[in-house]
Amino acid sequence: MSFTVAIIGRPNVGKSTFYNRLVGKRDSIVDDISGVTRDRQYGVSDWNGKVFNVIDTGGFVPRSEDIFEAAIREQAQIAIEEASLIVLMTDVTCGITDLDAEVANLLRRTKKPVLLGVNKVDNSARLYEANEFYGLGFAETFFISSITGSGTGEILDAIAAHIPKQEEEGEAANTIPRIAILGRPNVGKSSLLNALLGENRNVVTDIAGTTRDSIHTLYNQFNMQTLLIDTAGIRKKARMMENLEFYSVIRVFDAMDEADVCMLILDATQGLEAQDLAIFRLMVQKKKGIVILVNKWDLVEKDHKTAKQYEDAIKAKLAPFNDIPILFISALEKTRIFKAMETAMQVFERRKKRVATHELNEWLQEMQDAYPHPSNKGKHVKIKYVTQLPLHYPALAFFCNLPQYVKDSYRQYLENRFRERYEFSGVPIAMYFRQK
Ligand code: GDP
Ligand code: GDP
Repeated sequence: MSFTVAIIGRPNVGKSTFYNRLVGKRDSIVDDISGVTRDRQYGVSDWNGKVFNVIDTGGFVPRSEDIFEAAIREQAQIAIEEASLIVLMTDVTCGITDLDAEVANLLRRTKKPVLLGVNKVDNSARLYEANEFYGLGFAETFFISSITGSGTGEILDAIAAHIPKQEEEGEAANTIPRIAILGRPNVGKSSLLNALLGENRNVVTDIAGTTRDSIHTLYNQFNMQTLLIDTAGIRKKARMMENLEFYSVIRVFDAMDEADVCMLILDATQGLEAQDLAIFRLMVQKKKGIVILVNKWDLVEKDHKTAKQYEDAIKAKLAPFNDIPILFISALEKTRIFKAMETAMQVFERRKKRVATHELNEWLQEMQDAYPHPSNKGKHVKIKYVTQLPLHYPALAFFCNLPQYVKDSYRQYLENRFRERYEFSGVPIAMYFRQK
């Protein structure tokens, strides 16, 4: 199940500092167009085994003074409708501002959990001043310092307490494959859906466990039966361009969390941009099956080398994990769109593949014979055995004498060879090294 936390509040209260605490390491992306590095605004957090999506809405607010207030009000509204839990962030050094009070009023009316964060409470003098924020009337009020980390554990505990116990993703043996169609606005998601379905459009709205509002379409052609999850309708609902991305991200999270395989649609005339890469990284992190479809291929002037060059360029940007099927399609001309579905189904099957333990261990022996782990700070790492964990995505547990000395390069070596041997194109693989 998808659980998304939205952090809202005025500029400079410390939303992004808090976000970075939640999502862990500060991971930034480079914007292809401007060449500047900017912080990623959404990611995945894991606290006490509860996994949830986090969105820092600050990144979506225009900097301009005269419109940011309206944008923040609107974000509060969108968060009320779309997020699972809202953190309203405030700044103790400013006291309660009019906008804080106004947004708090909006948020108090929702039944969704709202946690009030009073940030920059770095010392005991400020703790005293922070008491005024109880006046905003939230039962769950936390005095925190996002910079020092003080109090952030408590608010994380409170967030986690609101998350229902997470069951293993819905791959009970007989569910049909779920394929999400994802990508930026205008890349051609609706066109692809229409091209695939033709007249056979069969929109499913009442399948248990499907996400409210996202469009589910049963695809039942050419011996393939799948549920297509579509986020194309997003644009029609989002009212203001400034918040389109914030709105879209919540929907993308929902669709992605539900899917077994994600089709990432790109626009051939634009290539792979920072935003596409951010979505791709999330898919990898969530261990979803992935297919990349470069749409509008009809618009590209090409010779026999173009596709290969284009593919290489994308793979260079995806690295290190780029063992992904990439297809060049045209939704408009219906070129290779069935091939795209077939490929998604193959990825679905691969993601379920199990390699028998004895076979895995023969493979591991062979790998270590061919290339033993190089000594690391004088330590000799020996991997004793490997087993595939019973998860809904491929996950390998390697048992070894000194797991903390396993080199990244060796991990990569094993993953690459494993992929070559067993064919896992489009499927992220988890690898754990454990003490034995
Ligand atoms: P945002 O605009 O709400 O995302 O705010 P930022 O996270 O960018 O933070 C704005 C400024 O407040 C930065 O200079 C931060 O270093 C600072 N800041 C954030 N959290 C704290 C805190 O807990 N204590 C103090 N003293 N400063 C903080
Ligand atoms: P969405 O926002 O991702 O759902 O994108 P749409 O399906 O609405 O497509 C955006 C625009 O791109 C529309 O004008 C489509 O006609 C156009 N388009 C979509 N697919 C193709 C394609 O394969 N080739 C060309 N030339 N145009 C396309």
